[in-house]
Amino acid sequence: MAITYELIKTCKQTGARLGRVHTPHGSFDTPMFMPVGTLATVKTMSPEELEQMGAQIILSNTYHLWLRPGEDIVEEAGGLHSFMNWNGSILTDSGGFQVFSLSDLRQIEEEGVHFRNHISGEKLFLSPEKAMHIQNSLGADIMMAFDECPPYPAEYDYMKKSVERTSRWAERCLEGHKRPHDQGLFGIIQGGEYEELRRQSAQDLTSMDFPGYAVGGLSVGEPKDVMNRVLDFTTPLLPDKKPRYLMGVGSPDSLIDGALRGIDMFDCVLPTRIARNGTLMTSKGRLVVRNAKFARDFRPIDEDCDCHTCRNYSRAYIRHLVKANETFGFRLTTYHNLYFLLKLMRRVREAIREDRLGDFREEFFEQYGFNRPNAKNF
Ligand SMILES: [Zn+2]
Repeated sequence: MAITYELIKTCKQTGARLGRVHTPHGSFDTPMFMPVGTLATVKTMSPEELEQMGAQIILSNTYHLWLRPGEDIVEEAGGLHSFMNWNGSILTDSGGFQVFSLSDLRQIEEEGVHFRNHISGEKLFLSPEKAMHIQNSLGADIMMAFDECPPYPAEYDYMKKSVERTSRWAERCLEGHKRPHDQGLFGIIQGGEYEELRRQSAQDLTSMDFPGYAVGGLSVGEPKDVMNRVLDFTTPLLPDKKPRYLMGVGSPDSLIDGALRGIDMFDCVLPTRIARNGTLMTSKGRLVVRNAKFARDFRPIDEDCDCHTCRNYSRAYIRHLVKANETFGFRLTTYHNLYFLLKLMRRVREAIREDRLGDFREEFFEQYGFNRPNAKNF
């Protein structure tokens, strides 16, 4: 089996899991945050920097690599690891999410989805078999099943049909996956906010015995309490011996709340996207470095942070770079935000090891300002 999960311990205070996932390109500690490298690059960061900041696994997007440069070129380069010179673990998504979110001209059929290329407008078709073929060519350690990700909110009847189709597509993905010896395929549980449908989806997919499971269809615009409630009834449906991945989640509060509910893996473009906008995550809440009040502020972004950015550069300097649209500014903010989340996950793992994740959550939320009325989401 390409992917195996080792459960190290369960937090006595919360039930959160401390573990390790073993892949053909090394192991990573869980709970873990995966930086997103959409086009085989985590925007502005070199693989050497990612390694230095403690990233152990990164995510890349099948849809985007399929369109540019084309999976055949990546395959010819020896796969994604050698193409981009990243020797750690890689996960690729199925392309489904982008087809559903980027393309407004799409038609879903049993066979797959017809849609238009968001760059050229060209007509394209993606199916479970095609998604497996592309991901086999990309060669990531973990691949994702091709699923339908309905928007929030969705009617029960539509969601039920969608869950059933996702299960049929999952079977076709298993059939179409040609490299199970060195690439692990994860199934994706759908069902929106409906407990009965999440149960049905979990039953269908766990019976197919994937090496890992994702909870999909969350972080699509629903309130945080809906996400937490769905996780409360969904994660107990998943096998203890397999890793669990919450897709598209990367705000500090949701990472902690997800880990607390037994999630092991997370990914999101949030830290890198907001960094390129000059917004930083700090131990005392978010900081918008463009603000005029930082013009003469020569302190680091986060006085509690020991990252490369915070050890060497000031708010005033970074504000100047960001406002002048200097690439180096975006490199410094991206580095800090990713480091911040990777370090947060290290602290979460430590707290699980010491059976105090609940206490850690309280302290972190208090300091970050999540407990204040009208607190921002990150
Ligand atoms: Zn920092």
